[in-house]
Amino acid sequence: MSQPTIAFIGLGQMGAPMARRLLDAGYAVRGNDRDPAALARVGDSPRFTWCESATEAVQGSDLLILMLPDSDVVDALLWRGDAALSAKIKPGALIIDMSSSDPMRSRENAQKLKALGIDFIDAPVSGGVKKAEAGTLAIMIGGDAAPVERARPVLEAMGKTLTHVGDAGAGHAVKALNNYVSAAGLLAVCEALSAAGKFGIEPHLVNQVFNASTGKNNTTENKVEAFMLNGAFNSGFSLALMRKDLETANRFIDQVESASEFSSTCVRLWQEADRALGRGADHTAMYAFIKRDG
Ligand code: NAD
Repeated sequence: MSQPTIAFIGLGQMGAPMARRLLDAGYAVRGNDRDPAALARVGDSPRFTWCESATEAVQGSDLLILMLPDSDVVDALLWRGDAALSAKIKPGALIIDMSSSDPMRSRENAQKLKALGIDFIDAPVSGGVKKAEAGTLAIMIGGDAAPVERARPVLEAMGKTLTHVGDAGAGHAVKALNNYVSAAGLLAVCEALSAAGKFGIEPHLVNQVFNASTGKNNTTENKVEAFMLNGAFNSGFSLALMRKDLETANRFIDQVESASEFSSTCVRLWQEADRALGRGADHTAMYAFIKRDG
């Protein structure tokens, strides 16, 4: 069977390197981003077509990948106004929402699109810009078995670990919960390093000890030295997006009527940091916020 043509909307920090992996794998990609600077982020490829609008991108495409900030942006593109992609994409097409979206809204999108003869799966990612560039993302997938199998070769060009976790929306639920666990761990590391520093203990040594001990986590292994203690705060994942993920996770935990005491405190601290640090702050700048605040 011939390779599908892929429309790719949202060529930001993650979307651009993911689209490059698809191009490298031989797919034809029709890309769009509301920011024209995205074109340079993707770079040159004979298989890449820059499209001035999302509507233009889906023309002739068999598959649509969305890598956008959140469900508000995804839903506006799919449903709002004359340019709604749900009415422009060809019947029988497959939509893959790889953004970190809201699970309940994704479940609803799957149902509404199914009624129009369009398949929808959610396939958010974890791993950050580095793994997006290497094509080694972790991808958690929600949706019916047939569209998931149809998407698999395309997803394999971008990810190393693909896990089908349940029906539509389940991928987005697991993604939000993963980021809650990750953000809670990062916050604990920030508070611990800040307290140790105030006692006069060198934070580099503390992190070394954590990495040799049970306190080790993704933050101690991959973020403390690379982005936090050196003050670089440039991991490529914004604090605003992490805040959004935590709000999604916290809301989800409430919606399924599970205990959310700790996640409520966690989300409140990320909201305060977002307000204090302002637009454009990287999520690793939580360390600066905690040190200043503590
Ligand atoms: P980003 O802000 O760098 O990219 C989003 C892109 O979407 C931007 O280029 C923006 O111009 C574009 N966009 C917004 N509205 C649009 C519209 N209406 N039409 C066309 N383009 C539009 O964000 P990112 O870091 O690439 O993250 C994208 C998604 O992936 C988010 O949901 C985020 O939570 C998630 N995520 C990010 C990371 C990371 O490390 N950066 C890791 C995993 C998941």
